[in-house]
Formats: sequence, structure tokens, C-alpha cells
Amino acid sequence: MATEIPKPLICSVHPAAWPDLMVARGHAAYRGRQLAGWLYGRGATTFDTMTSLPAALRDALADDYDLTALTTSERQVSTDGTRKFLFRLRDGETVESVMIPMERHVTFCLSSQVGCAMACRFCATARGGLVRNLTAGEIVEQVLRLRDDLASAPQPGHGKKQYNIVLMGMGEPLDNWDQVQAAVDIFVAPEGLGISPRRIQLSTAAPVGGLQQLAEGRHPIGLTISLGGATDAQRRRVMPIAGRESIAKMLTAAERYARRIGRHATVAYVLIAGVTDDLTQARQIARLLQRRPFKVNLIPLNRLDDDTLAPTATPGVLAFQKVLIEAGVPARIRTSGGQDIAAACGQLRRRRRSRPGDPRAEN
Ligand code: SAH
Repeated sequence: MATEIPKPLICSVHPAAWPDLMVARGHAAYRGRQLAGWLYGRGATTFDTMTSLPAALRDALADDYDLTALTTSERQVSTDGTRKFLFRLRDGETVESVMIPMERHVTFCLSSQVGCAMACRFCATARGGLVRNLTAGEIVEQVLRLRDDLASAPQPGHGKKQYNIVLMGMGEPLDNWDQVQAAVDIFVAPEGLGISPRRIQLSTAAPVGGLQQLAEGRHPIGLTISLGGATDAQRRRVMPIAGRESIAKMLTAAERYARRIGRHATVAYVLIAGVTDDLTQARQIARLLQRRPFKVNLIPLNRLDDDTLAPTATPGVLAFQKVLIEAGVPARIRTSGGQDIAAACGQLRRRRRSRPGDPRAEN
């Protein structure tokens, strides 16, 4: 049931603004620093636990703000250690976040929208269309909840709570850039989560104007672009929404950005049997990317339950990779973690929504 959202989320406010906001409320500026410490340092989930703040101030903040927007509707752990969360928002909508153990750190994969307008044929999130943008606070809170989970159940072999952030979950982050950038402001702020922009990566299908917004943005975060095909016609077959940049424009903008931030951009390419995996496309992609600051992630399709699309089999994946590498284009194969728990983009939410008897089921 959709409920009205009465209050702003406290994590939508930049922590550096709190000292002034406290002064405006008639309190000392240091109360603002204390509040930020409770929110981002200790991950407080109730105002009552913020015991260093005067009770009257806690009550006043609780009158004006909601402290949390996410409740864990589901938590699944894969045999490979990937943890997948389905979070329920205050209006009853749901989003997914994923924690992926890597060699030396864990990666938090965050959603930026409920649903997505990009309509990629291979993506589960696309099926229901765009429902709404997430607010900055809803994006930030995904990190807080994942961080809590990691602290209470540390990842074996990962001593510290080091994490990277990828905006690669549900949604198109450059279609919700204002809120995404406000969340990144809080990720990198010393009073916030204090994460280096080098540990943050944004993945995009490159809607028109999106890369321009990123280039004008405040933080040199890493860029991944989802390619989808070697030519504009092939790309449109699997990523059909009009209003995307042409491949040439997209790569020019991505290259300019990569050079400016001094980091290669990643090109993500989903390998779908008989659709994106012929070696002619591999050769075309090699020509597009040669001698430019790009590296390729080849991702064999994560199957959707209700689809006829199939992943490229391993020999085809290796052959595709070989063409790129022999042309001098770095190419890695990335298998999706958490296959046994439906961790591919948008799958968990979609299964839950499609449960028999669920009045909101799609199809
Ligand atoms: N809209 C953004 C971020 C979300 S998709 C974007 O397009 O990049 C994140 C990545 O997941 C993209 O590279 C996309 O190609 C990939 N992806 C989506 N569905 C997938 C599937 N079923 N199998 C493998 N990769 C998938």
C-alpha cells in the first residue's frame, strides 16, 4: 500500500550543513558534528540512541525528519558469499542492494531508481519500467544498512570493513543525477562516509546528456558504460530506448572523462548467445576501443526466468575475449556473483513482485 511520505530523510541532508542547521535551531554548532557522527560514524538507527544529544533536540529532530527509510524485506546469502538485500521503502516500493566479496575488499552495489526507463532487453529491472527516482538519503542508507550487515557478519578473509561502492544496481544513475550526486557528496565527505571517489564507480547506459552531467560533476568517480552492441543498430536491438547517445558520441565523452580523471573507463558488454557474441562484433568493438583509455568487462548474460535469451557458452566467451586482447584491448570476463540467489540486476524484486497472489504482480 502506498503511504504518503510526511518527512524528509535525515540522510538526504549533507552532514557539513548540520552545524549551521543546529545554530538555526538555537543549539551549538558542535551538536551538528555530533549528529553526523551518530549518523555516519556509528550508523544510529533510532534517535533515542543518540545519547550525547539533548533529549529535546532529539525530539525536535524526530518531529522534522525520518531517520530511516529502508526496512530489510529479504536477505539472502549465496554460496559464493554474495549477499543480496531487498529493501522496502516508506511508500511500499522495493529496491535491491548487493554485497559482493572481492579479493581484497567487498563491493556494495547500490540502486539509484525504483525500476528503470532504459528498457534493456536483457535486464530484469527494465521489465516494470520506471517507478520513481530514489532520494539521496535512500541511496546513502543502502550503504549504511550494508555496512551494518558487514559489521555484524564480517566477510571471512576481509579483515577491515573496507568497501567499494558501485552504482550498478537497479536504475539508470544518470537519469537521477541530482540525487545520485548528492549521495556521492555524502559518500566522500569527511563528515559523511569519508570514501575516496576512487572507490566509487558509476555504471550507465548513457542517456543523452548524462555523460555531460557527469563530466560537469563534483567528483572524479569511476565510469562504466554499458555498450550492448558494436554498432548503433545492434545496440538498439538490445537497448532499444531512444534518447541514448550514439556509440561514437558516448565513447568520445567517456574517453574525455577518463583522460580528465586519469583512470580508464570500463566498457561493460553482455554476451548473449546469437545476439551480441559473434566475432564480427568483437572485431568491431576492438577497432572502436583500440588505443583509447578503455578496458572491457565481458559479462555472460545472467538468465532471466521468463526469457528466451541465453548466455554465450564458455568457448564463445573466450574467443570473444581473445579477439579483444589480440587487438590490444584489455578484456576481463566477469561472471555474476550470487547466481543461486537471483543477484542479477532486478531479479529478486521481480520474483517477489510476481509471486502468485501478489496483487501487484506484473505480466
Ligand atoms: N543503468 C545502468 C546501471 C544498471 S545495469 C547501466 O546500464 O549500466 C548494470 C550492469 O548490469 C550493466 O552493465 C548491464 O549491462 C548489466 N546487466 C543487466 N542485466 C544483466 C543480465 N541479465 N545479465 C548480465 N548483465 C546484466
